Amino acid sequence: MPASLPGAARHSHLKDLDYSVLQQCMHCGLCLPTCPTYDATKLERNSPRGRISLMRAIADGQLEPTRTFADEMYFCLGCLACMTACPAGVNYAELFEHARAEAEQSGVLDSPKRSLIRSFTLRWLFMDLSRLRLVGYLLRLYQQLGLQTFVRRSGLLNLLPKRLRELEAMTPNVQPKFSAELIAPLTPAVGQKKYRVAMLTGCAQDLIFSDVNRDTVEVLARNACEIVTPREQFCCGSLHAHNGEWELAQQLARKQIDQFPPEQFDAIITNAAGCGSHLKHYAKLLADDPVYQSRAELWDAKVKDIHEWLGQIGITPLPAAKVPPQTVTYHEACHLCHGQKITAQPRQILRAIPNLALVELPESTWCCGSAGIYNLIQPEMATELLDRKLRHIKSTGASVVATGNPGCLLQIINGAKRENLPLRVVHPITLLAEAYRG
Ligand code: SF4
Ligand code: SF4
Repeated sequence: MPASLPGAARHSHLKDLDYSVLQQCMHCGLCLPTCPTYDATKLERNSPRGRISLMRAIADGQLEPTRTFADEMYFCLGCLACMTACPAGVNYAELFEHARAEAEQSGVLDSPKRSLIRSFTLRWLFMDLSRLRLVGYLLRLYQQLGLQTFVRRSGLLNLLPKRLRELEAMTPNVQPKFSAELIAPLTPAVGQKKYRVAMLTGCAQDLIFSDVNRDTVEVLARNACEIVTPREQFCCGSLHAHNGEWELAQQLARKQIDQFPPEQFDAIITNAAGCGSHLKHYAKLLADDPVYQSRAELWDAKVKDIHEWLGQIGITPLPAAKVPPQTVTYHEACHLCHGQKITAQPRQILRAIPNLALVELPESTWCCGSAGIYNLIQPEMATELLDRKLRHIKSTGASVVATGNPGCLLQIINGAKRENLPLRVVHPITLLAEAYRG
């Protein structure tokens, strides 16, 4: 058992964590070559092993959470490549979430500016998606009226500090219609219905990639599914869990379970890898909640990434080739390949599309630097990773990059824009929907 600091009364995420999770690491170092931050710096503290040692020192009462500890936890991408490499089965995902919660709880990173940003985004904007949509409508108006183009061409942006200019350049294009305008609350199966599924439309996904949500529903309908898509939905809480807001993540998990009672569906579908990786662990998140615990276990079993679900039920044969030939490469979102171990199904889907040549991407499982909001808070490292990803994409000669996560889509779209690359960056399910449409 870990020793406690004398007089330490406050709840500590790491001290209260099941100690066996912390003990699992046997310091073998096999994860080190797969860790992008260690690869960049070659410093032990920037490695999974080094980070776990820091976490364990806090759990053992040998170290108090310090600014250095917190910075280290935020330098970690949370990409989970170390989990894939680890022979001891260390649950780094769980350690990482508790370590960031510990960092937040200690207050070592607090500043008025940071508190304001976190209160506005995590505690206000993403707790009620009608607020996020309002921001989306305003941004859409700004873009559609040509104000964004005007501001960019006018040189006004040169008055901003460099970092703000960089952030402005990353502003995504908001879709002309959000999911509720594109998808009916109940979509019948095309032909015979075999399954009843729920569709999660997401938060940022709904604003920036509502077309991917529409394509997902269309593909599901063509594969014998009746789809329930409520107009009002909630954020899955992954943003909160990955940024140390444990209680808010729990609140959102309860709301999701209430809105989509798992016993009523054959599957609960997500097409965003980062969300799926979090959505499948509500039972752990609500482990101490006697009301929700058993429903959370059923929920976890019902949540399926769209590639995984299609792999499970088998896809309806596609019509003869009517789409033009295309050469596609596939970037594996970390939270799909490392977080959910889904690697074969997206490739099977792409290979099933007529006229599509799939070219393997070197280092396809290496993080692109998006990692939730990592590209906003750690721009140097994120840019380094993006450059590396773009180099590999260019080496394939593909004109299309497919990837199953909105963060990765945005990151690579922005990279292609920056380098003027004639690349189409797209979700695999969009390519499948296009093939069905012929
Ligand atoms: S999650 Fe990624 S960046 Fe963090 S320690 Fe593991 S491999 Fe390294
Ligand atoms: S996390 Fe796993 S692979 Fe890495 S040092 Fe510990 S036991 Fe070895």
